Amino acid sequence: MNNASPLPVVIVGGGFSGAMLAARLAERGRASVLIERGDGVGLGVAYSTPLDAHRLNVRAGRMGAVADRPGGFIDWLKTHHPAQADPNSFAPRRLYGLYVRDRLAAVEADRPGAIRRVKGQAITVESQTVILSSGERIEGRAVVLATGNPAPRTTGADQGGRVISDPWAPDALTPIQPGDDVLILGAGLTMVDVLLSLTAQGWRGRATAVSRRGLLPHAHGVKHDAPIDLPPEALAGPLSARLSAARRLAKAHGWRRVMESYRPITLDLWRAATDAERARFLRHLRPWWDVHRHRIAPQIAAELDQILGEDRLAVRAGRIRAVKTSAASVALRLTTRDKAEQTLSASWLIDCTGPGHDVTTAPLTAGLIAEGRARLAASRLGLDLDEAGRVLHADGAADPDLYVLGPPARAAFWETVAVPDIRQRIEALTDLLAR
Ligand SMILES: Cc1cc2nc3c(=O)[nH]c(=O)nc-3n(C[C@H](O)[C@H](O)[C@H](O)COP(=O)(O)OP(=O)(O)OC[C@H]3O[C@@H](n4cnc5c(N)ncnc54)[C@H](O)[C@@H]3O)c2cc1C
Repeated sequence: MNNASPLPVVIVGGGFSGAMLAARLAERGRASVLIERGDGVGLGVAYSTPLDAHRLNVRAGRMGAVADRPGGFIDWLKTHHPAQADPNSFAPRRLYGLYVRDRLAAVEADRPGAIRRVKGQAITVESQTVILSSGERIEGRAVVLATGNPAPRTTGADQGGRVISDPWAPDALTPIQPGDDVLILGAGLTMVDVLLSLTAQGWRGRATAVSRRGLLPHAHGVKHDAPIDLPPEALAGPLSARLSAARRLAKAHGWRRVMESYRPITLDLWRAATDAERARFLRHLRPWWDVHRHRIAPQIAAELDQILGEDRLAVRAGRIRAVKTSAASVALRLTTRDKAEQTLSASWLIDCTGPGHDVTTAPLTAGLIAEGRARLAASRLGLDLDEAGRVLHADGAADPDLYVLGPPARAAFWETVAVPDIRQRIEALTDLLAR
């Protein structure tokens, strides 16, 4: 990176990560260009929902956008929505989106010209220049890819128009009628969001969710769970021994407190793990990690319990073998955990497997991999990065000008999905780029 250069930092992606990086850079006197293909800068998929039923899955008191100001969102709520300003609560995500937009707009007003917004789709990066589908070329002193996760991948072909492959697309769920039964791929946070959306549009049908393990997300406790001191056997040694230690601790102190204790050191543990340990974790522990770590708000859990109690949601564990659609229905063939073949059918199939991680097929990153400027991490979670988030070339050398921020940096940082983790990375990246 040429530090004497007056060129701006070019940020691809104007969701929370890109927008808040631009704001922090501006606050440190550094210019940036923020490229976003959609209309809602600062929102991304997470915070563009109009539904109040879609709540944060992190307590409002921890959702400040800046690392050393975790209470920033609460301060904003006190001014704009005082009735919601409870640090312990899980505010509507819609309000969080407004907070992020307000923060960006306030920084722009304070430092006119520091952030140039560009609407467009970045298709490739040549050296330090980002090229848009319009042909426009934007040169910077460094490029940061803050593109969020690639879109979900859907199983099977859809000849009948009965598969909803992107439940986040505007009006994706509108064709579903109140009495329609639905099949849902995935039983995690996206499935919960979709059930809440369907309920809000008057849906009263039945849903069957299918996932590899059939695990539903767990709920947060009513109050914050204080971490405990983790003993050495829970922190080092073979994964199986660490898992046994964590289970013993969970029995003694409650699993939520144990998960909270791992939170601040997850990055260190991930970095210290070998490729083989990471692979073992991803293969065997990840589903359990996800449901305990990424929890739903208590009131959302209560709504889910109600749907379960009304016998309108069934969860099956199994592997999808085939999807067959006709004009009026969709059939899903699966092999259950006990190796039985089963076919389920409904009016609709909704892909709630969550965002895909296949950077080899996302156009921007596929091109970088093809030309050797990037490579896939051994974990296959995303691009291979160094400890600063710089992209590693095919030969392992770190690119001095190309960074990844947010969920796509998962291979290097593992938990870099939620705001409390991303804002730490924003701070580190700002330090580096503003130096
Ligand atoms: C449904 C949902 C709910 C969530 N709830 C919470 C929560 O309550 N609390 C929490 O802490 N975290 C939550 N998260 C995690 C979330 O990942 C982060 O909070 C944060 O929104 C990630 O922002 P991002 O900018 O990295 O990615 P995104 O929000 O995905 O934004 C990426 C942006 O890049 C743009 N883009 C992508 N490719 C290109 C391109 N080639 N050219 C131009 N623009 C491009 C996209 O249009 C998009 O706007 C949630 C995630 C989801 C999906």
